[in-house]
Amino acid sequence: MFYQFSVGQLECAVVSDGQPGPPFEPALHDYFTPDSGVPDDVLRAAAGRLTLTCGYNCLFVRTPDGMAVVDTGLGASFLGYGEYIEPLVGQLEAGMKSAGFSRSDLAAVVFTHLHQDHSRGAIWSGEARFPAAVAFAHASELAFWSGPVDAPSAQPHIEAARETIRLFGKRLRPFEHGAELLPGVTTVAAAGHTPGHSAILLESRGDRLLCVGDTFYDPLQLTNPDWATPWDLDQPASITSRRAILERAADEHLLIHAYHLPFPGLGRVERSGAAFTWHPVC
Ligand SMILES: [Zn+2]
Repeated sequence: MFYQFSVGQLECAVVSDGQPGPPFEPALHDYFTPDSGVPDDVLRAAAGRLTLTCGYNCLFVRTPDGMAVVDTGLGASFLGYGEYIEPLVGQLEAGMKSAGFSRSDLAAVVFTHLHQDHSRGAIWSGEARFPAAVAFAHASELAFWSGPVDAPSAQPHIEAARETIRLFGKRLRPFEHGAELLPGVTTVAAAGHTPGHSAILLESRGDRLLCVGDTFYDPLQLTNPDWATPWDLDQPASITSRRAILERAADEHLLIHAYHLPFPGLGRVERSGAAFTWHPVC
C-alpha cells in the first residue's frame, strides 16, 4: 500500500508497513491510561470508541542526494505484540516493490527514534535491509539506547534499538536539531517520547511537510494535547513537545505526516481554543 505526492520538487511517498483493522485494532485504554494522566471515564467520554486505528506509515523522499526513508516499520516475522499481528505488519518491502522502490536504491534511513516499530524494518533477522544506506538518529537517542535502560515501557525496544546501532555501525550518524541531513531534509526538536525523538522537516520551493513521528498516536491527542501514553518516557517533556509541534503546525499551515495515524497519515492541524483539531488531507 503506497501513496505518492510531492513537497515542492521533492517526490515523496508514504509506504505502509501495515495497519491492523478490526478486530485487531489496539484498545484505546492501552494508550491512554490513568497512570499517564487520563482517567478511564474521561477517556470514555472523549473518545466514543474503544479502539484506535494504528498505522505504520513510512515516509520516502527522493532528494538530490538519493532516496531516503523516514522510519522503517516493524519488519517481517514480528511477534512482539502477539501472534495475531505477524501477518498484518512487516509489509514495507512489499509496498516498496509496488511503488517501484528497490532496497538497494535507498541512500539514507532517517530515524525519528529507535523504538522497534520504527527501526526493526531496517535490521530484522540480523541483516541490514538497505545495504547502501547511511542512517541518521539524534545523538541523545544513540546515547540513551547504548547505556543502561531501566524504564519498563522501554524494555521491548532495547533489542531492535541496539541491533540498529550495531548493524549500521559507522554508517549511523548522530545528528543535533536544526541539522540538514540531506538537501531539503532538516531535524526539529521533539524530545520526550524518547530522549532523542525528533521531527523531520521537508522543504522545497516554499512547500513544507513536518514528519512528527510519535508526537501523537490519535487525533484525541490534538483535542487533548496533555494526554501522554505509557511509551512517552518523559511525559511532561512529551507534552511540551506535542504542544510546540502542534502550535507550529497550525500557525505555519504545515502539511503533517503522522506515523501512526490511519494510512497515509497526512493532514493539517488547526487551532481550536487551547487545543487543536486534525484534518486528514486524503
Ligand atoms: Zn511508534
